[in-house]
Amino acid sequence: MDPLTGVYRITLHHDGMTPFTSTSQGDAAARIDTIRRAHQSKGWGDVGYHFVVDPAGRVWEGRLLQFQGAHVKDQNPGNIGIVCLGNFELQTPSPAQISAMRDFVCRVQGAYRIPNSRVQTHRELAATLCPGAAMQVRVNQLRQGGAFS
Ligand SMILES: [Zn+2]
Repeated sequence: MDPLTGVYRITLHHDGMTPFTSTSQGDAAARIDTIRRAHQSKGWGDVGYHFVVDPAGRVWEGRLLQFQGAHVKDQNPGNIGIVCLGNFELQTPSPAQISAMRDFVCRVQGAYRIPNSRVQTHRELAATLCPGAAMQVRVNQLRQGGAFS
């Protein structure tokens, strides 16, 4: 894996698999492991995202921050990837998940001095449904409410 340097943006994702609503820690760990194995089967060194937010609002470490992620084609340098577990084309993210994502994004923004304009969803950067219509709506609502700042 390449080193992560010059962090200047954050990209938000869903995992896009089957709907997932469990608040069990073990279920979330298993889901993350499934994603990691799928990514490693593509020849990647680790799961492509740096952080994972589960439906209970837990934030998990994915790929270590010292390494560049693999989550937006051709736009991974300097880009921290955060994924919310679930498929938000098919379900709505839980309030706990969105709240935890918002709070965590704000912390990362503070740590790296990332402006709101550089907190984007995957579909804002590339032709993809990610992070799903329901999560996109929530991200837009957070922006209208003053996040991410
Ligand atoms: Zn994505």
